[in-house]
Amino acid sequence: MTAEIHHLPLARPEPGQLTQVADRLYWLRMPLPYQLNHINLWLAEDDDGWTLVDCGIKIDDVMAIWDELFAGPLSAKPLKRIICTHCHPDHMGLAGWLLARTGAEFVTTRAEWAMGRLFSMQDAFDADLYRRHFNECGCGDEISKMGADRFAGTHKIYSTVPTRFTSVRAGATLAMGGHDWRVIIGLGHAFEQACLYSATLNILIAGDQILPRITPAILIHGNNPNGNPLDDFLESNRGFRDLPGDVTVLPSHNLPFTGMHRRLDEYDAHHAERLEETLRICAEPTHAFEVSTKLFKRDLSDHHLFFALGETLAHLRYLEAQGRMVKSDSGGVVLHTAN
Ligand SMILES: [Zn+2]
Repeated sequence: MTAEIHHLPLARPEPGQLTQVADRLYWLRMPLPYQLNHINLWLAEDDDGWTLVDCGIKIDDVMAIWDELFAGPLSAKPLKRIICTHCHPDHMGLAGWLLARTGAEFVTTRAEWAMGRLFSMQDAFDADLYRRHFNECGCGDEISKMGADRFAGTHKIYSTVPTRFTSVRAGATLAMGGHDWRVIIGLGHAFEQACLYSATLNILIAGDQILPRITPAILIHGNNPNGNPLDDFLESNRGFRDLPGDVTVLPSHNLPFTGMHRRLDEYDAHHAERLEETLRICAEPTHAFEVSTKLFKRDLSDHHLFFALGETLAHLRYLEAQGRMVKSDSGGVVLHTAN
């Protein structure tokens, strides 16, 4: 029987405030302009400066909070290093801006650096390719154009991701806040997400790989339709099962918690259920957009519509790779049928 999920009895920090979570380790929150309205960042304190884990998205509110932090709690010592768990804009969006301001070292994995650098550039997303992709999913012209336009604007929530970085890979050790942290790589949500585990603190900084209340988004996008991120996610999560049952998880969203193994079990069960539901929906040939509206039985805002579609594609692709789903073409729209 694995331990239940418990949140730590810590007050969530107000914007611009630091909450101590462990020896020389602090938690701060930055706003996000979405329904998921915040991201957690982590700061480790050494005698010669701070190490920051993740940066926040590039919007004025977040930059204003950083200004307050540099004028207040962080004024006594330099920000000497920035570690990004992965390239998504809420994590890496302000890396370039913070580096230009502080001269900090920029640390991430090779794949996250490369993809973040790409996403921060205009024209990273081929609008025609995305429009075609959404049309093939059965979205129709209007939604396909909306989706293509949405992705084409991604670079606006990034400052330019730095050209120079220090790469880390699985098993690397980083010292911060007087403790050693081992890099454990999580796949599926991002490309090569760096999670950090300290054995002396028994704490895992989990990025978006392991979250307490929401399931990490596992998405297929138009640029890599034949990837299998759900398989990547479920397989790489096995690498976290060796951690102690009472490990404290510091997630990028919601509250720090214990009960990680239970959470991993819940992910397995959640995706198994969703795969079965996908098979039922595809008893008859069905396009991905229709599958997504049946799988996600709620009103989908523009933002969530494309998340739901990306998740649906990840489940369809997982089943296809197992030979349990087949694709066919109907006038330029791809139909999926349970095999
Ligand atoms: Zn993410």
